[in-house]
Amino acid sequence: MRKKIIAANWKMNMTCGEAAGFIETLLREIGQDDKVDVVLIPPFTAIAKVSELLSNVQNVKLGAQNMYFEKSGAFTGEISAAMLRELFVRYVVLGHSERRTIFGESDEVVNRKTRAALDSTLKPIVCIGETLAERDGGKVEEVLGRQIRGSLAGLSAKELTEIVLAYEPVWAIGTGRTATPAQAQDAHAFIRKTLAQVWDAPTAEKIRIQYGGSVKPENAASLMGQPDIDGALVGGAALDPRAFAQIIKHSAGQ
Ligand code: PEP
Repeated sequence: MRKKIIAANWKMNMTCGEAAGFIETLLREIGQDDKVDVVLIPPFTAIAKVSELLSNVQNVKLGAQNMYFEKSGAFTGEISAAMLRELFVRYVVLGHSERRTIFGESDEVVNRKTRAALDSTLKPIVCIGETLAERDGGKVEEVLGRQIRGSLAGLSAKELTEIVLAYEPVWAIGTGRTATPAQAQDAHAFIRKTLAQVWDAPTAEKIRIQYGGSVKPENAASLMGQPDIDGALVGGAALDPRAFAQIIKHSAGQ
């Protein structure tokens, strides 16, 4: 049985003050409940503050939105895995479609970052997903297969169990257009089948695969009720603590 994982990707939103208000409301809404894993993923500038606010909280973990694969050095503007670990960050999002499209990250770069995160005992949340043109062109499986093989190249089966995959169809991110539960389930089942082919079936069964793309309180239960959907990576709706708490509650019931 895979425990669901619901993560709030705040993107380039939330000052330290706003984050503090968010956490106060969220904790009031969800209490000590730990039926699902909950992860807050602030911008770098709020990580230290959120880390401090969560220091005595057991049921909400901390994530980062990105990192660089080198350990240190002349990489202006970048952040290393060790810097994140120092602030008690547990998860790191890698290969988000905004990183891939706006900042030109390739599967090879995502792979190097995944390797570096695992070497520092951070848990990577590796994002994959097709564009609308790729879906309309019947290329969903080709794209997902390439991203899985490229982004996760060289990982052992044991290392694979440390990661979370996030299936995020690019056409559903921030657009209000959600994949139907059946569309999402088909893609998740294909991802799991590919993991079983490249690694092995028992390992593939252990991997949590989140869905991301306009998840809201209204659609969370039907998406989370699908057999291969093991959680959600939430953007827009995760800026409102009450909406995010609702998503957590709807997921816990599944
Ligand atoms: C995301 O940023 O990963 C995301 C899924 O955003 P949204 O929920 O706003 O579509």
